[in-house]
Amino acid sequence: MSGKADPRPAGEGTTSRTRLDRGRGALGPALELVHTGRAPTRAVLTAELGVTRATAGAVAAELEALGLIRVDARPGAAAGSQGRPSHRLSVAEDGPVALAAQVHSDGFRAALVGLGGRIVATAPGCEVVDADPAKVLGSVVAAGAELLEETGRRCVGAGLAVPSAVAEPEGLALNPLHLAWPAGAPVREIFAEQVRAAGLDGPAFAANDVNLAALAEHRHGAGRGSRDLLCVATGHRGVGGALVLDGRLHSGSSGLALEVGHLAVNPEGRPCHCGSRGCLDVEADPLALLTAAGRAPGPEMSLLKQADDLIHGQYDDPAVRTAAESLIDRLGLGLAGLVNILNPDRIILGGLHRTLLEADPDRLRAVVADRSLWGRSGGVPILPCTLDHNSLVGAAELAWQPVLDDPLGALVR
Ligand SMILES: [Zn+2]
Repeated sequence: MSGKADPRPAGEGTTSRTRLDRGRGALGPALELVHTGRAPTRAVLTAELGVTRATAGAVAAELEALGLIRVDARPGAAAGSQGRPSHRLSVAEDGPVALAAQVHSDGFRAALVGLGGRIVATAPGCEVVDADPAKVLGSVVAAGAELLEETGRRCVGAGLAVPSAVAEPEGLALNPLHLAWPAGAPVREIFAEQVRAAGLDGPAFAANDVNLAALAEHRHGAGRGSRDLLCVATGHRGVGGALVLDGRLHSGSSGLALEVGHLAVNPEGRPCHCGSRGCLDVEADPLALLTAAGRAPGPEMSLLKQADDLIHGQYDDPAVRTAAESLIDRLGLGLAGLVNILNPDRIILGGLHRTLLEADPDRLRAVVADRSLWGRSGGVPILPCTLDHNSLVGAAELAWQPVLDDPLGALVR
């Protein structure tokens, strides 16, 4: 970080820069407030930051000069409102982006994601995942680099979501069991190498896909405002969980917390690849639903899509309904155990679990309430995830984090 370079033309912003000397520490918090939609106006920003109006004005002007936000000095007043409306703040429509990548058992996808969790562009998902992680990550980075070239956007960094626990601090994919990757593959290092080889700017990160989905939902979706947010979701295969505490992912001592897929919910159940039996991973994922409903999974589309389609299209079929109810009961049992241990203030469900919740919300909520001490007394809200591609948006959050921590330091190089 040079600290001296100024991206603006000479002569602009001198007075705001003087004020900013006092407000530089507020740039990151201010950007995060606009990024998460909590500061729609300069008046709210001033109040949230606890600074003077002049300092908030300088901070907003600096973020605008960095190309990150837009300050609308003349917003149309709402009909019937009194007085002069405050300057409206929003993320810049044409600002920098993060390259986000996701690999799952049925393919991969690249996207560009701006501030505010806005997906700017996506490259069509590929259907074949090679057994060599370097090949897959090379292809997904190349797809992202092509999007950057097409759009001409500046890249702040890259983030990757994988369907595996990612051990920290090394960034190893410990159990990519539904991919043919070797266990313990150093995915973050491989991804970073591919990002560098493509000539892209900024740091590269990698994390578990459900952790990233939870982070994205907390900042931009169904988890906003929650303090102890529990997220449980199926990917295309298997079941994952994540906990966001006070805005931060709880990842445990080495990144491996919340392996909720291996909660046993059916002692008589199917053998699981973890060595146990009847885990959520094998009792409440898309393949489990298809099997319980007596449907042979077809090769033509992802198991998640086949399972979703079955519930959306054939819930009147008694075999489908019975299968869905049995999955709801097992999921509910797992959630009840988690409620007792973690005492979340909100639960959000993704993937097939979201579809099951929407198919029969009363049944799922009743199972959780009946089987959990805190669930019965308090009634924990259980909501569907609301973002499309939340793991991709979460992967982008990783790449955005250095900018959110210190916008000047990250962008003015
Ligand atoms: Zn298991």
